Amino acid sequence: MSLKTAIVTGAARGIGLATTKLLLREGWRVAMIDLDADELAAAATMEDVLPLPCDISDEGQIAAMTARVAAWSGRIDGLVNNAGIADFRPLDQTDHATWRRIMATNLDGVFLTSQAVIPHLKKAGGAIVNIASISGLRASTLRVAYGTSKAAVIHLTRQQAVELGEHGIRANCVAPGPVDTKLALAVHSPAIRAAYHDAIPLNRYGTEAEIAEAITFLLSDRASYITGQILAADGGFDAAGVGLP
Ligand code: NAD
Repeated sequence: MSLKTAIVTGAARGIGLATTKLLLREGWRVAMIDLDADELAAAATMEDVLPLPCDISDEGQIAAMTARVAAWSGRIDGLVNNAGIADFRPLDQTDHATWRRIMATNLDGVFLTSQAVIPHLKKAGGAIVNIASISGLRASTLRVAYGTSKAAVIHLTRQQAVELGEHGIRANCVAPGPVDTKLALAVHSPAIRAAYHDAIPLNRYGTEAEIAEAITFLLSDRASYITGQILAADGGFDAAGVGLP
């Protein structure tokens, strides 16, 4: 029997790369999708991976990518919508171009990639895991576009779970707390880092590997009766309810 196949977007680095490595260890084949072709080529050194450069905000590129994956594996059992971008600025400095740029990747990208892959998931009875953020669960300053895009991903996950259940497809969401990736390093000022440290009951950032565990569990058959759920992998941040700058 052929190995189960997952598509992981934003797989060239960070949480997506850690998830790819864990899925491989658990016996999946992984189509690694990323906008950054060079970083993807450098990262995709493992067996049982198919690296495919693709911009998940572009419907045509997504269609071509999905067809390539289906031809490679003959089946698509899992989709991890992980690719995302961040922009931390206040409401009065967020122009429409910035808003659209964030929505195009973080929200449209999840919608469009899912739409393309769902017909394959229906055949396999597969699963979707969308990556949101604690910024989508709790409002704070500086995150108007990013936080709104992630809140929309949370609701889109619930829509997918409700509409796709009859096809045996599960859809869940992981909402990570802060993790030291390239994305976070670009937007987390020293003040934000200190505030996170104080606001998180475990008093530290998460690791890429810790987020990958949550994603891989929800994608796997071990979560076979779990759908429509939002799992905050956040060191207790959401439970504590402390505000952030
Ligand atoms: P990262 O920047 O290290 O990795 C993101 C990857 O997505 C990059 O390789 C990038 O090239 C790719 N990407 C960006 N736009 C793309 C596009 N249009 N098409 C295809 N690929 C694209 O960031 P990360 O921290 O690993 O982020 C992964 C996900 O986790 C994101 O959705 C992010 O919002 C979410 N998240 C991260 C944190 C954190 O603190 N790092 C916290 C909460 C949520």
